[in-house]
Amino acid sequence: MPDLPVTGSGVIPVTNLLGWYDRSRRDLPWREPGVSAWQILVSEFMLQQTPVARVLSIWPDWVRRWPTPSATAAASAADVVRAWGKLGYPRRAMRLHECATVIARDHGDVVPDDVGILLALPGVGSYTARAVACFAYRQRVPVVDTNVRRVVARAVHGRADAGAPSASRDHADVLALLPNDEAAPKFSVALMELGATVCTARSPRCGLCPLDACAWRDAGYPPAVGPARRVQQYAGTDRQVRGRLLDVLRTKDSPVTRAELDVAWRTDSAQRDRALESLLADGLVTRTGDGRFALAGERF
Ligand code: SF4
Repeated sequence: MPDLPVTGSGVIPVTNLLGWYDRSRRDLPWREPGVSAWQILVSEFMLQQTPVARVLSIWPDWVRRWPTPSATAAASAADVVRAWGKLGYPRRAMRLHECATVIARDHGDVVPDDVGILLALPGVGSYTARAVACFAYRQRVPVVDTNVRRVVARAVHGRADAGAPSASRDHADVLALLPNDEAAPKFSVALMELGATVCTARSPRCGLCPLDACAWRDAGYPPAVGPARRVQQYAGTDRQVRGRLLDVLRTKDSPVTRAELDVAWRTDSAQRDRALESLLADGLVTRTGDGRFALAGERF
């Protein structure tokens, strides 16, 4: 990546952060030159609440198979959910398919570059819209995820963690830090990378941190105030049961009976029924005329 002119951010020194990013960034395929806005948007859908390593195992094949919105829209929704595999939160796959359909139909197969228009697309929220505007179209917009909020809370505000999100305050915080030139997108991705790899939630590696000043470190690491964060469980949850039921349907190319689904989760039949009903309600699964079940949008 070529050197960019460096001007101003207040508390987080631009030169330090960008220099560190050049030396230490992970080589992630969606950051490579030539990756299209659509392919970046796909990566952002996949990365929501999902570790990078799991996305790395799927994204390259995905964008080879469906490189454009129209190619994705031409696939069946069932094929898209099937290819989503074990990424989790499979409603994202449905929303991505809907998003592709809208872009292909209404935007000439080109991902919009305007945050307001991006926000109107299915499945695109505040973070994703700004991430696409910044990373694909190199706009100076605040891109705020959990990692960025944590770095800003610590380095700028001297707090152990960021507390409850507030879109307007968080965006204003980060906007105030962005350099006023074309270095802004690189600064955004570097800030995010710092939170993901160095200033991590549980064990920040301050010895590797490129920031000369950090309000939290300089104050002697005052502890967090407020209730401890709850660690999300997976085992035994409805999410796990939904995943098991979808696993059965993904492997079939014809509808399955209720009995075939039942073997996927024998622990608690009421929980299994609830999970199946929620998949039907979410539109991920459909009931056929003869009472069997299939992935929604399956073309038999
Ligand atoms: S010095 Fe430590 S706490 Fe402060 S931003 Fe760097 S890694 Fe995070």
